[in-house]
Amino acid sequence: MKIELIGTGCTWTKKLATSYIIDDHIMLDCPQGSFKTLFTKHKLDKIDTVIISHYHSDHWADFHLFVEALKHKNFTNKVKVFAPVGFWEKFECLAKAFYLPKTLIFAKEHISFNQLKNGKVFKIGRLNFTSYEVKHIPDSFGFVASDGETTVGFSCDTSMCDNLIKIIKKSKVVFIDMASTQPNDKHLCVNEVINLKKEFDKVQFIPIHLSDFSTHVAKNKMKLPYSGQIFNI
Ligand SMILES: [Zn+2]
Repeated sequence: MKIELIGTGCTWTKKLATSYIIDDHIMLDCPQGSFKTLFTKHKLDKIDTVIISHYHSDHWADFHLFVEALKHKNFTNKVKVFAPVGFWEKFECLAKAFYLPKTLIFAKEHISFNQLKNGKVFKIGRLNFTSYEVKHIPDSFGFVASDGETTVGFSCDTSMCDNLIKIIKKSKVVFIDMASTQPNDKHLCVNEVINLKKEFDKVQFIPIHLSDFSTHVAKNKMKLPYSGQIFNI
């Protein structure tokens, strides 16, 4: 499985917010600021599937620009969007707020929406994904992706919860939220990730959604990824 990290940060840092391109055609999250990198470094018309983990702006605020780019390229294929409940209502609000009526029409013609649910299994290309509702804001999801040989977990934004442990137990490698320096009910903190690494010592953990604070606390304790890093897992 080829996984490219577009960004590794959360909102409150100079780093680009966390998102991924998987196997060159699946985009997992589309945060604010990511579009310029996507537009200059990637062939956007190769991306046929977008997964939105939840509706915070640092996970989907540039999605309308992705749709705009496809419209300008006269893209004709359908794009599958897997997202929490309410996708069209929220996209219509964005299109109205940014005065993009033609983009909304294009989106309705070219996007098929698939609603994420806890435990839902869906196939994208050669990969099987399972979505798990995690503890962040309502309707937030993490994922496990498997190609039959290797299984990779994506905690996305979460604090400690049973489904996070399920994701870890199923995975060889886990991209894990490490935004915080103190335990809280929205994100994982550095010590929680360190303890998970000790408890599940056969699993490789890659911390993401990093803040400047968590980066500072963790930099001498573990290896941190960088924007643009490619993992072949
Ligand atoms: Zn969030």
